[in-house]
Amino acid sequence: MQPRTGGHPARPTRLILATRNAGKITELRAILEAAGLDVELVGADAYPDVPDVKETGVTFAENALLKAHALAQATGHPAVADDSGLCVDVLGGAPGIFSARWSGTHGNDQANLDLLLAQLSDVPDGHRAAHFACAAALALPDGTERVVEGTLDGTLRHTPTGTGGFGYDPILQPLGETRTCAELTPDEKNAISHRGKAFRALAPVVRELLG
Ligand code: IMP
Repeated sequence: MQPRTGGHPARPTRLILATRNAGKITELRAILEAAGLDVELVGADAYPDVPDVKETGVTFAENALLKAHALAQATGHPAVADDSGLCVDVLGGAPGIFSARWSGTHGNDQANLDLLLAQLSDVPDGHRAAHFACAAALALPDGTERVVEGTLDGTLRHTPTGTGGFGYDPILQPLGETRTCAELTPDEKNAISHRGKAFRALAPVVRELLG
């Protein structure tokens, strides 16, 4: 016989993800479920009054933490945020945190990619190493914070190839691959991607702080 508790079953902890991108929510939810974590993951668009935070940090980790803390403070719930970009060796790690606005216009993926390819046009194969990097941060309303990182190493093609993905995917060929990220299926990319690695590294942290 079940003990009478007199109340409702315990609700899973609500965790807010600082994104309006449904793909990111699905990816993190699947990773947390696979880790056996009972959390209710909701996107930041469930809180439309929360203003976007300025990304004033100078590292992916700082920007991810800024976004996670702002969301946790505004909602009163634990919050996760990620920040990511492409780092090119021969450019000293640029575009880095400026990846989304490299051409001057935030979020213009085509212009960003075209400018980067033009800048690298004289750089020969063998000197075109680059990696995607992602920092994923968890912040609690009491100010507790954790941040983890993931990377995807590769080389840059001279011409874009593939129609999948977004951003710089058509020019980044992961090490050991013959295809660009834009030619991988979403599952193939999630399995090796910087964001997939960072989100998977976050699961034990969520368990530690919320489990
Ligand atoms: P965000 O941190 O998700 O806003 O990404 C910042 C920028 O980095 C994007 O606008 C893209 O230009 C680039 N970027 C981050 N992750 C990826 C990826 O997986 N593929 C291609 N471009 C990416």
